[in-house]
Amino acid sequence: QSMQLPRPAANGASTLTSLSHVSSSPSVAQPAPSSKERPELRKPVSMPAIAELDQSHPHYAFSQMIREYRTQVDYRPLCMNDAVAENRISVCVRKRPLSKKEVTRGEIEVVTIPNKDHIILHQPQVKVDLTKYLENQKFRFDYTFDENSTNELVYRFTAQPLVKTIFEQGTATCFAYGQTGSGKTHTMGGDFTGKKQNASMGIYALTARDVFRLVSSDYRRQHLTVHCSFFEIYGAKVYDLLANKAVLRVLEDGKSQVQVVGLKVMDVDSEQMVLELINQGAAVRTAGTTSANSNSSRSHAVFQIILRQGKKQWGKFSLIDLAGNERGQDTRDCDRETRLEGAEINKSLLALKECIRAMSNNNSHVPFRSSKLTLVLRDSFVGDKARTVMISMISPGLSSCEHSLNTLRYANRVKELGADGTDER
Ligand code: ADP
Ligand code: MG
Repeated sequence: QSMQLPRPAANGASTLTSLSHVSSSPSVAQPAPSSKERPELRKPVSMPAIAELDQSHPHYAFSQMIREYRTQVDYRPLCMNDAVAENRISVCVRKRPLSKKEVTRGEIEVVTIPNKDHIILHQPQVKVDLTKYLENQKFRFDYTFDENSTNELVYRFTAQPLVKTIFEQGTATCFAYGQTGSGKTHTMGGDFTGKKQNASMGIYALTARDVFRLVSSDYRRQHLTVHCSFFEIYGAKVYDLLANKAVLRVLEDGKSQVQVVGLKVMDVDSEQMVLELINQGAAVRTAGTTSANSNSSRSHAVFQIILRQGKKQWGKFSLIDLAGNERGQDTRDCDRETRLEGAEINKSLLALKECIRAMSNNNSHVPFRSSKLTLVLRDSFVGDKARTVMISMISPGLSSCEHSLNTLRYANRVKELGADGTDER
């Protein structure tokens, strides 16, 4: 079996205008720019290689089997100029690259993304006679993003198609789901260069950029204004990240409108202002903890872009950096508070799955009252103008294998596309 070349990504795209100048029609996917501007268009011809290990490495045999598996795979990764589907509910997976640290400690990669919608998790197994083999768990999603994908590529196929929804007076929602360290904050808040986060390349900012573009072009005559809020759900409490963590109450009124009472909603008129709010909120989110992870991995962060016409709400885009999904499973935590937190996270992630499932089945009963997270996001699940995308993040290493499988199974339950399965080699 030979390896097929990926389709020539950049060919023919060089004559098209760059994204930053174009927003002709919001309902049409924007043309892909040239490979000079977008390095991700220059895809490698073959699949990203797995480093050849020293024979003394404890997982040498497994790593060789995965290498061998990959030589059999027809590699066709997602490209900037692939067609963007119009889904009401979309579930995608993103695999991050191994970090330098992981490479140094000899972590091996157990995840393969062969094309734009499949992912394979290679689970090392040992038979009773000690023969080693791989159990290859295959899943299909709306899109799968491999380790070479940039935030811009991910954005193009996830949140960007939902921007027009809020201009059409709907509710758009984008969730980042996954284990702590899998890349949720990197995807939503922007990539880090050293310790500093480049918020302008995160999905929060990329979304805001397109919103401003449409406000002043296609939707000029509607005279819409842009507003932002940023809050955190920690346990069953809501904290305002733009008001120094003020505790907020959530109320449901007689018309089943859900309100976060006193939530600061800032008027914004440029991407720069939005970036400042993101940085401000992110700083408040992690303040007061010794490690950046310890707090933020236990809370859901909700960033909202709200469109208004006069005083009336026109549309709303909620972008959510969810708590680490492993927090809900860890019942061995000795301290009681941590256990209770874990239980609350578990409850909210289960509720989230059920709400999206109810939405996709056009079920009139959406169980949004089952958790604070889903209660606050009621509008995301109710009504025919709601659209949702979930990006499930995967760590590529063997030590994350169990968590990765949990993440893939969860995502698969949120939207069952079938075509998954196991084959043993
Ligand atoms: P999470 O928010 O899910 O806990 P982070 O976004 O903080 O995870 O990512 C963990 C680490 O991995 C960070 O150092 C981040 O910069 C890095 N990382 C995550 N995703 C990617 C990616 N796609 N490419 C490069 N580095 C990444
Ligand atoms: Mg994070």
